[in-house]
Amino acid sequence: MLTQTLDREVVIIGSGPAGLTAAIYAARANLRPLLIDAPSDAERQTTPGGQLMITTEVENYPGFPHSIQGPELMEAFRLQAERFGTEFLEEWITDVDLSERPFILQTGNYTVNAQTLIIATGASAKWLGIPGEAKVPIGFGGNGVSACATCDGPLPGFRNRELVVVGGGDTAIEEATFLTRYASKVYLIHRRDKLRASKIMQDKAFQNKKIEFVWNTGVEEILGEGNSGVTGVRLVNLQTNETRVLPCAGVFIAIGHKPNTDLFKGQIDMDEVGYLITSHRSTATNVPGVFACGDVQDATYRQAVTAAGTGCMAALDAERFLDHLPIPMPTGDEVTIEGEHVTPDHQAIIEPDGTMIPNHVALSAQDE
Ligand SMILES: Cc1cc2nc3c(=O)[nH]c(=O)nc-3n(C[C@H](O)[C@H](O)[C@H](O)COP(=O)(O)OP(=O)(O)OC[C@H]3O[C@@H](n4cnc5c(N)ncnc54)[C@H](O)[C@@H]3O)c2cc1C
Repeated sequence: MLTQTLDREVVIIGSGPAGLTAAIYAARANLRPLLIDAPSDAERQTTPGGQLMITTEVENYPGFPHSIQGPELMEAFRLQAERFGTEFLEEWITDVDLSERPFILQTGNYTVNAQTLIIATGASAKWLGIPGEAKVPIGFGGNGVSACATCDGPLPGFRNRELVVVGGGDTAIEEATFLTRYASKVYLIHRRDKLRASKIMQDKAFQNKKIEFVWNTGVEEILGEGNSGVTGVRLVNLQTNETRVLPCAGVFIAIGHKPNTDLFKGQIDMDEVGYLITSHRSTATNVPGVFACGDVQDATYRQAVTAAGTGCMAALDAERFLDHLPIPMPTGDEVTIEGEHVTPDHQAIIEPDGTMIPNHVALSAQDE
């Protein structure tokens, strides 16, 4: 099939808080960014607007003292990016070639040549795939079922109620411990008889009187009622096969996240889970001209405001790069659009052909 070719200075992938913030900054800098986002796909967990599209109340995004609905917030981000001239393309990217600039992105209908690329493809929470877990109105997702305790734990519906956390790793322990600030009790449901979490986190959780561990147990179904939401979970003891209903007001699935980075495997440095590795002082990846922001490079904070913050950084980094200014790399070097590396101590410049030159202007005889 014939594809149309587009040449752009800044291409952004993903329209969550990170991608749209990058778009606002790049558009205001007159870089005419092209933002490519995947269409809605329940199975692949993509929604234009990103993860906040599947939640209701957002209480912690600064600037909204009375909270705001997730989809409403993302609509405002999008309008702001549009206002400054962001161009949007709703397409699946099927292939990328980052071996040289311009980078080549392939979609079903377009070949996009990008001088700089900002990756903001986010991360997807892993789900159990059990009845009751899907988003309202199919299940109780957003009405008692969540994958983010920091985001939803403080909501009024969970305060002084009994809650369930599912999982056995660091995330589950962290979520359960956090929820004890609000809940009257937290049941931690785990398939095995011991936790995978680090020893220090386990010790903290075992000492917390509000956490009750339910071992060797799986969750078969999340139960609830129309508008009022979650009322309990059906548990199965994996050793005896006995089932029982545990009443609760909320279920937090904490079995991990998967960064959306399959597309970039073998082309950009990632950690063992698949999170893109960026420089500590910038959003630069190991590929000069490719920047990453938001949850796709952040296994730690995973919040809308931090995603937006790094989206801003990525746009400023791309702008600097296009202006031929050096960008800090994960190696500690700085690199320019011409491919020159400035060493971490700033003493030397390594040119693309390997020639090394001192990074200072030779003093004239008179100055000496
Ligand atoms: C249920 C829930 C409630 C939450 N509540 C809060 C809250 O109250 N407050 C808060 O601060 N945070 C909250 N969060 C976390 C917050 O949503 C994320 O931290 C934030 O959305 C991350 O933004 P992002 O832009 O990095 O990625 P995302 O929002 O994940 O957006 C990524 C985008 O990339 C697109 N994409 C992925 N792969 C491709 C591809 N191959 N090609 C093209 N496009 C692609 C996706 O379609 C999506 O639009 C919540 C998360 C969840 C799941």
